[in-house]
Amino acid sequence: MSRLVIVSNRVADLRQSQQSGGLAVGLADALKERGGVWFGWSGETVDKPTEEPVVEQLGKVETVSLPVTQRDFSDYYVGYANSVLWPLFHYRLDLVDYRPAYFKGYLRVNRLFAKVLSRFLEPGDVIWAHDYHLIPLAAQLRKHGCRQRIGFFLHIPFPPPELLAASPNHAELVDALLQYDLIGFQTQTDANNFRRYVEQHTDAAPAPDGSFVVDGRSVRADRFPIGIDVEAFRKMAETPQEDVRIDTMRRHILGRRQIIGVDRLDYSKGLPERMKAFARLLALKPELEGKVSFLQIAPPTREDVTAYAQIREELEHLTGSINGRLADFNWTPIRYIHRSVPRETLAALFRASQVGFVTPLRDGMNLVAKEYVAAQDPEDPGVLVLSQFAGAAEEMREALIVNPYDTDEMARSLAQALEMPLAERQERHRALLASISRQDAQAWMRSFLAELERPAVAPLPSNGGGRVAAMR
Ligand code: UDP
Repeated sequence: MSRLVIVSNRVADLRQSQQSGGLAVGLADALKERGGVWFGWSGETVDKPTEEPVVEQLGKVETVSLPVTQRDFSDYYVGYANSVLWPLFHYRLDLVDYRPAYFKGYLRVNRLFAKVLSRFLEPGDVIWAHDYHLIPLAAQLRKHGCRQRIGFFLHIPFPPPELLAASPNHAELVDALLQYDLIGFQTQTDANNFRRYVEQHTDAAPAPDGSFVVDGRSVRADRFPIGIDVEAFRKMAETPQEDVRIDTMRRHILGRRQIIGVDRLDYSKGLPERMKAFARLLALKPELEGKVSFLQIAPPTREDVTAYAQIREELEHLTGSINGRLADFNWTPIRYIHRSVPRETLAALFRASQVGFVTPLRDGMNLVAKEYVAAQDPEDPGVLVLSQFAGAAEEMREALIVNPYDTDEMARSLAQALEMPLAERQERHRALLASISRQDAQAWMRSFLAELERPAVAPLPSNGGGRVAAMR
């Protein structure tokens, strides 16, 4: 079996990967089994650029992490990755803060990563790069003579070509993606968007097996929906910590039910829309006042990007005004926690909540939706209310699927979830659990790696390259 080389913006701590959830655990296990390297940014900034990474050996695995300069951090990470690609790929052109220096920084860091990483590569390695920070990595590695198979997985959505083409560097981005051997997306919608872009804007030739021919190479693009470690999460949910147990018992005695939402405080998560829908529920069904509360956990994230400060302000204003209007001295309608909560606590909170309210405006997959289902008691499961724009909605059809822009529909679905008979809850939960168990973290990883290692059908006729045609 070939060695595996994982590249991601941040290197997981392999000693603590259990705590970071299914993805890190799955990838760490594959690395430990096959041997290899995990390469990425160390999370630190330095004054002067360096090509000397910190290398740690753990059995057959090396973790290699590199600090970047403050300027690179601003241009590559805060700038191009999180102020251009994140909003653009989440269909939010209005929030894109494009500056030429950002794209230069993005290329500079990918060039540096490729240069340093190439020193650690062996001829038979299989390389797997993760996420939007690293789109140009394969192209840069090729410049260092890297001939190994390189795969890329995009954890966030891929926008329709009409939106992507509005970004100044769209041609370079897609040219860079076409340097990979395999490009993985979360959903069919994303894979179709990519396919449409390639067909409309490049002269890469479509092959009968669904791949593209670029410079005589075969490039495959497909959907590989990411999953969670269902069993591990279920176990965590079954052993509530004391504080969650006490809170649940108190609510039980008072005959109160709980709706739960858990999201980083990001504008893509639809948090203000969700608060409004909960308030609308209480207006539609005043008999629920005092009987149901909404717990929203929303830890801070990317606070150095302006759009995040704005969404926080909007959310706090809304929460305050809804609570001010409706709260009673012994009941607070919305409990809003702006702090990160450990996964074990989340698992127990999910199990103790009758409704999982997951309504992003756009999301690559949304693991919280899957975690909520995994955490339920199959004898008395809660109901998942899920946005049609979460990648998870492609597989999780038995959830109550809602349009997060439609406040009334969301409020009606919350009411339906709270009133749903036990037999229907059990039936929906069974189907959802079967679906997330089939497509769990292990299945995701195995299917991607099997496809990456599948030999290409060679030789292929040259098409003159994947250069972007005049239509850009
Ligand atoms: N999470 C956590 N603590 C928190 C909030 C979230 O551990 O306070 C975890 C959550 O359990 C999930 C992940 O962070 O595993 C969020 O993944 P998701 O795909 O839902 O959204 P993302 O943050 O990647 O956009």
